[in-house]
Amino acid sequence: AQLLGDQLDLRRLDGQRGIDSGTARHDTQELSRAVARDQLRVHYQPIVDLRSGRVDAVEALVRWQHPTRGLLTPDAFLPLAEAAGLVHIVDRWVLRTAVTSVARWRRLSPSLRDLRVAVNISVGPFLDEVWAHEVQDVLTATGLPPAALTVEVTERSLSSTSPESLAALEVLIRSGCHVAIDDLGTGTSSLALLADIPATELKIDRSFVQSMATDPRRAALVRAMACLGSELGLDVVAEGVEDRRTAEMVTEVGCTHGQGYLWSAPRDVSGLLTLLLP
Ligand code: C2E
Ligand code: MG
Ligand code: MG
Ligand code: MG
Repeated sequence: AQLLGDQLDLRRLDGQRGIDSGTARHDTQELSRAVARDQLRVHYQPIVDLRSGRVDAVEALVRWQHPTRGLLTPDAFLPLAEAAGLVHIVDRWVLRTAVTSVARWRRLSPSLRDLRVAVNISVGPFLDEVWAHEVQDVLTATGLPPAALTVEVTERSLSSTSPESLAALEVLIRSGCHVAIDDLGTGTSSLALLADIPATELKIDRSFVQSMATDPRRAALVRAMACLGSELGLDVVAEGVEDRRTAEMVTEVGCTHGQGYLWSAPRDVSGLLTLLLP
């Protein structure tokens, strides 16, 4: 019921985008205060190297510990943040928090010394030179090597992106960071665009992966995306792997990495460290 309430709220806000309704203004103010009030959290989900079976990286996924509504997942507040032009504040906080944490774990624990981290960034006016600098800054401050960071951008957002944003991704790659195209298959970009977007990694959306075992056409699409990725020299992550059979299938078609409930749902820091530490 709580979740449903959130969705109804957002649908109402969606319809009123641009109109400065009282509710929208209130929610926006609340969200912009969430960072200052220390209400945002990062949960981490393992990304597994399918060849070795080992955890190669963790993806940082934002949560909002809301004072009255409980722990909110991104779909309950990121659309609002995007509409209000606040999402870069969230993204920057997650970047700083996740990179700082992973850099510390690598220093403190020998078994985590090669752990990598992936963060999601909303493509928009803020993914420009500023982002490349921001990332550079965080890496320098924390000592995390650039190769240990992946910046994930959704295919959906890339289909309407500016030359400046593409240039920013190129700067990131040139500096040694990884760039992943997230939710591959859910956007409307042409295959030609895929060849032009600077990226080192593809993440196949879970809507394809999850129905692979029962839907041969989806399975064919996953195989084609994995093949495309490997032809382009990219790592390919299968998202939403929930069972052994699917893990075998994505490995067979050439995905290099897997992510999903089979290995672990996103966890808070102590849950993650319990999983990763011997
Ligand atoms: P995403 O980047 O594609 O992240 C994967 C989502 O799939 C996560 O949802 C994760 O909990 C979920 N997931 C992972 N494995 C499974 C599985 O086996 N089964 C199922 N059913 N779901 C699985 P979450 O955490 O709710 O995040 C949703 C989206 O919100 C993310 O999708 C990402 O696009 C966005 N997001 C999360 N954190 C941030 C952030 O800090 N900044 C921005 N801009 N976007 C973020
Ligand atoms: Mg992602
Ligand atoms: Mg995704
Ligand atoms: Mg997804």
